[in-house]
Amino acid sequence: MLTAIIMDVATSPTLEITDQLTLLAEVAVRIGLGLKPGQELVMTAPIDTLPLSRAITEQAYKAGASLVTTLFSDEEATLLRFRHAADESFDYAAEWLQDGVAAAYRSGAARLAITGSNPALLAGQDPDKVARANLALSKASRGPLELITRHKINWTIVPCATPAWAAQVFPGETPERAVARLWDAIFASMRLDGPDPVAAWRAHDANLHKRAQFLNDRRYAALHFRGSGTDLRVGLADDHLWLGGGTLGRNGAYCIPNMPTEEVFTTPHKDRVEGTVRATKPLSYQGMLIENIQVRFEAGRIVEASATQGETILESMIGSDDGARRLGEVALVPASSPISKSGLLFWNTLFDENAASHIALGQAYSTCLRDAESLSPDELAAKGANDSLIHVDWMIGSPEMNVDGIAADGASEPLMRNGEWV
Ligand code: ZN
Ligand code: ZN
Repeated sequence: MLTAIIMDVATSPTLEITDQLTLLAEVAVRIGLGLKPGQELVMTAPIDTLPLSRAITEQAYKAGASLVTTLFSDEEATLLRFRHAADESFDYAAEWLQDGVAAAYRSGAARLAITGSNPALLAGQDPDKVARANLALSKASRGPLELITRHKINWTIVPCATPAWAAQVFPGETPERAVARLWDAIFASMRLDGPDPVAAWRAHDANLHKRAQFLNDRRYAALHFRGSGTDLRVGLADDHLWLGGGTLGRNGAYCIPNMPTEEVFTTPHKDRVEGTVRATKPLSYQGMLIENIQVRFEAGRIVEASATQGETILESMIGSDDGARRLGEVALVPASSPISKSGLLFWNTLFDENAASHIALGQAYSTCLRDAESLSPDELAAKGANDSLIHVDWMIGSPEMNVDGIAADGASEPLMRNGEWV
């Protein structure tokens, strides 16, 4: 699952508010966010997604929002910082702002993030500065992120096509065509192209819950991934819980945190991951691209890591803290998911993680453990839940991937064959 949209920024506007944009906004507010009448909303949005953020603002007020506050980000401003700011700037983040956001969540606000950034914005920048800026921001946003990952509030992340993002997905097209094609792909993957999107979402949500329930009943001790250069055994945390689709927040509001979503996911055991894994898609990490990631785990920890592009970024990412070398999430997605069937590489985690089975380095979701609310951080760690400043999903699934469920007694049974549920 995707939790954080950090440094999310995009270039040049000109979207038109259409009926479909209104529909997306309505589904985002009512189904994704589950905004309660009288609830406050804090939205984060790249400045180039203004038409969608306004459509969402309208729908939020119509749904009874008490106050909608949008924090806009600007890609050009980010680039100006990298061009002109003093070196010390990159160890600093606006903690006061993150504290304010956390205070809003604690006083009852919901969170909506719009994603649509240029996946390669920082590709030409000094990787060391990018890494330091990310680390500073991760530290500063620990407060709000904790409230989000523990589902203390209702929240969701939704996409918006922007020219910079569209250009990366459709490099051969004119800017207008690229944006139009990206919107088509977004509407299809968000189930907005059928006659009744709300009913389609309810049915899809029920399906994901059923899949998670099946896995919870099996109580596997581990999963074994084989294929596409991967031979990886992922031990699952003690008392792990599979989740998929919507979640009831601890504030009593039901939300679907990622739209689109196709995954069922749980918490791996931070000390019980063994073997080699190869990424099946490139990763856009904080505006930089990492390609052909390959890592080897021993006793849960990455002991070897390589990439054909962006290896320095990969190294600084896994060097963020001790937990950054360990897994915090494992997720299963069939190769036939609508996003996967589009055949597109979106260069955006919200989409690409829902096109393939994936693992995430870093912070675990404590909601993926039974009775997590009553457990202290030490107790969570003892069950195998990882702790880190980062949470980075990367894709390992493919139509060649086989996955077995391994029971506590070592017996194994097929879960996925050639990328599909058995
Ligand atoms: Zn995930
Ligand atoms: Zn994730």
